[in-house]
Amino acid sequence: MSSATRKGGTRPARPKKRYGQHFLTDKNIIRKIVSAAKVSEGESVLEIGPGRGALTEALVDAGARVLAIEVDEELADGIRERFPADRVEVIRGDALKLSFRELGRELGERHGKLKLVANLPYYISGPVLAKLLDERDAFTVMVLMFQKEVGDRIVSGPGSRDYGILSVLAQAYTDVKKEFDVPARLFFPKPKVDSTVLSFRVLDSPKVPIEDERFFKSIVRAAFGTRRKMLVNSLASTGLQKPDIEAALREAGIDPGRRGETLDLNDFGRLTRALHKRKKAGPGA
Ligand code: SAM
Repeated sequence: MSSATRKGGTRPARPKKRYGQHFLTDKNIIRKIVSAAKVSEGESVLEIGPGRGALTEALVDAGARVLAIEVDEELADGIRERFPADRVEVIRGDALKLSFRELGRELGERHGKLKLVANLPYYISGPVLAKLLDERDAFTVMVLMFQKEVGDRIVSGPGSRDYGILSVLAQAYTDVKKEFDVPARLFFPKPKVDSTVLSFRVLDSPKVPIEDERFFKSIVRAAFGTRRKMLVNSLASTGLQKPDIEAALREAGIDPGRRGETLDLNDFGRLTRALHKRKKAGPGA
């Protein structure tokens, strides 16, 4: 950021473990994150956890207006002091408790849909991604940093032990791509694990037709809830009757003895539709 737009700075706050604070120190990685989001002049970007502002600065330099959500009051104040208010607006709060949809709507009225960029604290990355996927209509692109293991899980496919609920949901609603890994030594303080940056391009409609998103999610959750069980048994947790589940599996062309982790997106789509029909019709119909 040019010195003309930067405001005065104070001594940086000490990193707080309870907020998962590990600050990026590598300019090249920061540049690569901004370029993965393809941020251009005048765009609005929501940043979760700006910390000391390493990414925020690069976003502002790329011409973005940034809305930053930071839970740590000290850091939120630091960001307010460092950047002009017409370029960076800071909300002090917990990203898990705010409505992205509402923020998107408010900002969207002024600037259209948002991009999201976040170097997430590891302890909330799963729940934040689940929330972002639920409220994805606020965004065009989301670029997020995860603990490497978690990132690898999100992009993995059926048959792998890594494949899980978030893999299916992310792959149903977005084009998700692994961008690059970030070694632990490029953060201060150095975390115990390496990280991965993923980009999610939000799709206008899911890759498989989904009539009722909540129902789809409940099927995916049930299928992975008891990974070692056969589908016909694990799906019982949805409250559907066993004969209905068996009939739906047959209709979807899925062997009831299979496990949830072997189903691909199309299988989940067909199964959800077949189960939904029976749920609407009532037990044993
Ligand atoms: N973006 C900075 C960087 O790359 O150097 C900081 C990244 S650090 C891994 C995570 C940041 O998220 C910290 O600033 C932390 O205070 C903030 N944070 C932690 N929990 C949060 C929450 N629930 N909501 C919003 N911000 C949170």
